[in-house]
Amino acid sequence: MNASPVMELADKVLAKTYGRQPVCLVEGRGTTVVDDQGRSYLDFVGGLAVCILGHSHPAVAHAVCEQARRLVHVSNLYYTVPQAELARWLVSRSFADRVFFCNSGAEANEAAIKLARKAAKDSGHPERFRVVATERSFHGRTLATLSATGQEKIHKGFEPLVEGFSHVPYNDLSAMEAAVDGTVCAVLVEPVQGEGGVCMPDPDYLPGLRRLCDERGVLLVYDEVQTGMGRTGKLFAHEHFSAPPHVMTLAKGLANGLPIGAMLAVEDAAKSFTPGTHATTFGGTPLVCAAALAVAETLEKENILDHCREMGERLQSALKGLAGKFPFVKQVRGLGLMVGMELDRPGGPVVEAMREKGFLINCTQDTVLRFLPPLIVQQHEIDQLVSALSETLAQTA
Ligand SMILES: *Cc1c(COP(=O)(O)O)cnc(C)c1O
Repeated sequence: MNASPVMELADKVLAKTYGRQPVCLVEGRGTTVVDDQGRSYLDFVGGLAVCILGHSHPAVAHAVCEQARRLVHVSNLYYTVPQAELARWLVSRSFADRVFFCNSGAEANEAAIKLARKAAKDSGHPERFRVVATERSFHGRTLATLSATGQEKIHKGFEPLVEGFSHVPYNDLSAMEAAVDGTVCAVLVEPVQGEGGVCMPDPDYLPGLRRLCDERGVLLVYDEVQTGMGRTGKLFAHEHFSAPPHVMTLAKGLANGLPIGAMLAVEDAAKSFTPGTHATTFGGTPLVCAAALAVAETLEKENILDHCREMGERLQSALKGLAGKFPFVKQVRGLGLMVGMELDRPGGPVVEAMREKGFLINCTQDTVLRFLPPLIVQQHEIDQLVSALSETLAQTA
């Protein structure tokens, strides 16, 4: 494919941080996006687990337009209605007592890490500043969150890393027990690892972490940036395991594509964030909070969690059917509409061939095809994807 003028321009003037696919998208509706050549794609990436209600959702578009005409931004020197109402919604549907709003997943994790360190100091334990995270985790690209991330390729070139992070194998309770000593203020885990390859915990992992953290006076922090807001078929993934955390971070699905992050915490920890200790200019603007409120309302009004669980089961069982047909498919795993298919070979060529057939999918960790469609995806769209994938895998074999 020849690069279009816009691709040539972008490659000349943008930082080279992304290996982009040769497609320039110009609009989207529901589960479909359209490129500048007028080609449509069925979108099983969903802006990387962000567009949970699909593209151009009317309720979100309406909320954004209305709020844009009323008040976009005033800073956190003042109270605003959408921010308070969104915090109330999150608090009323979670373990948490308080919410801090920011602009991305990485920033939400930064807030959680800073809170954990400060809460330990405030409780008379300045020696507790370390955070134990897991191997193959992903927590963001700022210096502290990349240091928290358990993947060498993300550290590489940016050393020295921020001090105070260590990593143990995911889903290994005894490794965590051994790592949580008197210098640790928090355990940081994703309830289901996303970028690490859609890795599932055993049913007793999160409850075990909670027990361990309570015993040792350590904060349990869940990074639900990807798993939160219904992606797994419950509002928050940890609800599947009946093991609430003390602190949780959200971002991706929260405002269906407007930039937002949130750090939720129980009062005992949250009280350490006193005036002046942490801040962000843009965090929780009326505009993004109005969008998030529209997302929240739509999730509940349209029973999207039930739909997500049902579609997730169908997608997973159809993909497992393919795994039975193609021996180079090692495993299909996931929860709700966060599904991975691990191959014994690189998945890049499959992603490319699927795109040429009009389907957007993603690949993580080189070999794991990842499916993160909008939660409103329909059965016939899943059928279309699975049949195109079956064809593509047959050609790959
Ligand atoms: C995407 C992601 C992040 C980082 O979010 P950004 O908005 O890109 O900073 C952090 N944690 C998890 C689990 C993620 O999936």
